[in-house]
Order: sequence, then C-alpha cells, then structure tokens
Amino acid sequence: MNADIRDGRHRHGRVLPLLTIALALAIFLFDTFSPMKIAVAVLYAIVIFMAVGFVDRRGIVTVALACVALTIVGFAAGAERPGFEAHLLRGLVSLSAIAIATLLAIRNQAAAAVLGESERRWRTIFQSVGVSIWEEDFSRVRRAFDDLARQGVSDFRRHLEDDPHFVERCISLVEIVDINDAVIRLLGASDKAEVLTQRRRFFLPETVVAYRELLIALAEGRPSYAGESALQTIAGERRSILITATFPADGTRISGLISAVDITERNRVERALAQARAELAHVSRFITLGELAASIAHEVKQPLAAIVTNGQACLRWLDRPVPDLAEARACAERIVGEGGRADHVIQRLRGLARKADPERLAVDVNAVVDEVVELMQRDIADHQVALRLDLSPDLPPVPADRVQLQQVLINLVINALQAMAAVSGRELTVETREDQAGDVLVSVGDSGVGLDEEAMAHLFAPFYTTKSDGMGMGLSICRSIIESHGGRIWATRNAGAGAAFHFVLPVTRRRAA
Ligand code: ADP
Repeated sequence: MNADIRDGRHRHGRVLPLLTIALALAIFLFDTFSPMKIAVAVLYAIVIFMAVGFVDRRGIVTVALACVALTIVGFAAGAERPGFEAHLLRGLVSLSAIAIATLLAIRNQAAAAVLGESERRWRTIFQSVGVSIWEEDFSRVRRAFDDLARQGVSDFRRHLEDDPHFVERCISLVEIVDINDAVIRLLGASDKAEVLTQRRRFFLPETVVAYRELLIALAEGRPSYAGESALQTIAGERRSILITATFPADGTRISGLISAVDITERNRVERALAQARAELAHVSRFITLGELAASIAHEVKQPLAAIVTNGQACLRWLDRPVPDLAEARACAERIVGEGGRADHVIQRLRGLARKADPERLAVDVNAVVDEVVELMQRDIADHQVALRLDLSPDLPPVPADRVQLQQVLINLVINALQAMAAVSGRELTVETREDQAGDVLVSVGDSGVGLDEEAMAHLFAPFYTTKSDGMGMGLSICRSIIESHGGRIWATRNAGAGAAFHFVLPVTRRRAA
C-alpha cells in the first residue's frame, strides 16, 4: 500500500468509509424498492470511486464485488415485476458500469502510486542533498516581464540595472514554494516559518545584485544562472555562497530551483592565503635588506673596533712628554691595515650584491599589473574598493625584474587601500601608458586621505611612517627597486581627494642611478 493512500485514509478518517457505505445502501434500497424504471445500480460506480480514497487494490475489488452482489440482489427482487427484458438490460448496464469503474479505479490507483513514489524520491533528494534549495514560483514575475515587453522594453538587462525599484518589485512577486532543511541551517533559522516570513532579513546588497542577474537570465530566456554572492544569517553573520538557478518548464507555472553552496570557509582560507602572499612580498625585500645590514655590521665591526683601539693607543704614545714616534707609527700602520681589512669586507659584500643582481628580462608591465590585481583581488573587495584599470594596449616591454616590479605594485596598492580605509567612495586606479620619451609610465591613484606637506617631504625616506604598525620601508624599497632599473618614482596629490604614485621604467636599459 502506498504512502498516499495511507495519507488519504488518515486524512479522511472514518467519514469517507461511512459515507460510502451509506451511499451504497441508499442505492441498494432505491434500486430494489423504487418503482422507477431506470438503471439506478449504475450509481455503484460512484461508490467504487469513493472507495479509492481509503482502500487498496484488493479493497477496490472487494467493494466492486459487494456492489455486484447488491446489484444482483436488487435485480432478483425486481425480477417478478412486468417488463423483464428491460429490467435485465438495466441490470447488465449497471454491471458493466461497475466493471468499467473498477478497472478505472485500479488504474488510477496504480498511477497515483507511481506518482507518489516519484514524489517521495524527489523529497528525499531535496532534503538529503546537502545543498540549500529554494523552490520558487516566478509566474508573477514572468507576467511583469510580459507587461514590460508590451510597453516596448526589449533590453531587460538595461531596464533592470537602471531601475532598482523594479528589481525590488520582482523580488516581492516571487513566491517561495518550498525550501529544504539545508536552507534553514544555512541561515541559522529555527524553522521553515522563520525563513518564509522574513525573507528580506537574509538579503545583503550582494544578494540583491545576484537576484537581479538571476531575473535578467529569466527575462532573457536563458535556462539557468550561476554566480557568487552572499547572504546573512539570522544572527547577522555574512555567508558567502555559490548560487545556481535553473528554470525548468513546469506546465503553466514558471518555477525556479535556486541552490546555494556555502563557500564562506573556502573564501576565508583563500583570503588568508592571498594576504599572506601579499604580506610576504611586502616584507621580503625588507628582510633581505635587514639581513644584509646585519652582516655588514658584523663584518665591519671588528676592524672598526681595532681602528678605534689603535687610534687611542697612537694618541697616548704621541701625548707622552717625549712622544714615542716608533710606537705611534706602529699603531698608525695597524690602523691602515684594519682600514684595508674593512675595505676588503665591503668590496666582498659589494661583489656579493652584484652577483645577486636582479634579472633584466623583457617584461610586459600590463601583465604584471594584471597579476598583482589578481593577487590583491580579495583585499580590494574586502576594502569595498572600486578598481579602475586603464592599461595602454601597446606598451613596449621593459627590461626588468618581474618579481621586483610586483613588489613595487603590491606596496603601492597596499598603501592605497590603507589610505582609503577610513574614507567613503573608495576608488583605486591603475594606469599604464607610454610617456613622451617613449618609456613606460605606471600610476597608482587612490581616493584616500591624501598627502600633507610633511608626508610629501619624507615619503620615500626609510623608516618614515604615519601608521602605528608601519615599518616605513615600503616606499623606500620601491624607490630603490625603481632606481635600480634606471627609473624614477614620485608622488602627487590628486585634484580631488587622495594621492597618486607614479614611476617610469626606461625601455632601453640605462645605468642604474
Ligand atoms: P608604511 O606603509 O609601513 O608606513 P611606506 O614607506 O609604504 O611605509 O609609507 C610611508 C608613509 O607614506 C605611510 O605611513 C603613509 O603616511 C604615507 N603614504 C604612503 N602611501 C600613501 C597613500 N597612498 N596615501 C596617503 N599616504 C600614503
């Protein structure tokens, strides 16, 4: 016996069986005792159809046999009356009606069983798939689109992008047919009702944007939509999601299946990774510089100490009432010797530094900008900064160290993001073009706090910082990298808010400044 029928029984309780029995009796009494010459027993077909609601296949057969028996009893009771032939005909018509009704009822019930089974399978998938699914009815939205089309609108994308009120209206026209338990879990709600009654509570501005794109897909007749977006939970926590929407044809209804996968954790890990990489690039230069400084200090310290000691001894020999010139000379010679040793150390270090000379390969600066933008994408999005790229398409390649150029750009972008942290209307611009001399000019502009006189004067000096956690090495490293490429770096104040940093890289290699 299938679930539907069990449900049916449960729903109707005892009322339907009692009604059915009452109807069967009424038909029997009418058939047997009424003088009217009509095939009343045909009405047993109704009894059989009613029985479908609360008995299984065998039950239908039993009810049908009972109806046949009652028809025969009714027939026998009326057989004495005049007009036997017509009476027989009526009996046969009634029996045929019962037989046909029984066949139809059994077939109907089998079809209902198949349907119930497929419905149950769909329910199981719907609930256990682990992906949040909303089943929504877009019929009313479709009608709103049709109205628009009648008014002559054909570019739905433009219309929806230009009219946020229409988007809002469409969202309110969508009817949620059902949601699965994963939606309730994703939103941190306690039950279905909480989700269905407070739909807009879970929307963030990004959710509206994704919904708009989904509506555009529907309006343009595309079969599906996929994109990244975000929702907020009952507790106000932001959840990043991957949305997929499909619009299966469903008779007259325009339905949509919208599924969402929570990618908050994946994004967090990705973001942490990108940040770690950017920070690494930001400080790596500082670390090598620091290490170099430490090793120079260590190597030069000893000869310097010897020079000081010998200098002091030399002075003492000269300060005697009778200066001991021989000893003083010996000290001076040792000073010269130690000086030579210090010089040797420095020569060695310079040789080492030269060996570690960075690469000079033909580099496409636009490609480096793209790489850095990709690397910093998350930070840019997190700071809610609008990025404008204006890259000249025909830049000549420059002889440069790709990694070092990346470091310069990362430093400039990080500074720009930090300068915009506390302002509204954040815009980051990265531009590349050829300058008048045919060299490559790169500019990184922001709409941040800008630069005062003091900053303009000291920006590129090592250890100049206005940040509590700043090292003040970023711009000084940028300058040393750019100058080692034979280029130049400088800052300007924007006409509006913010600052811009520019550097030029010569196309033909010049001697480092
Ligand atoms: P740090 O970032 O560690 O402070 P930097 O050398 O990169 O070191 O920057 C030095 C200082 O220059 C910063 O502390 C800040 O005051 C200023 N600065 C750098 N970039 C910008 C910018 N885009 N807008 C405003 N001020 C900036």
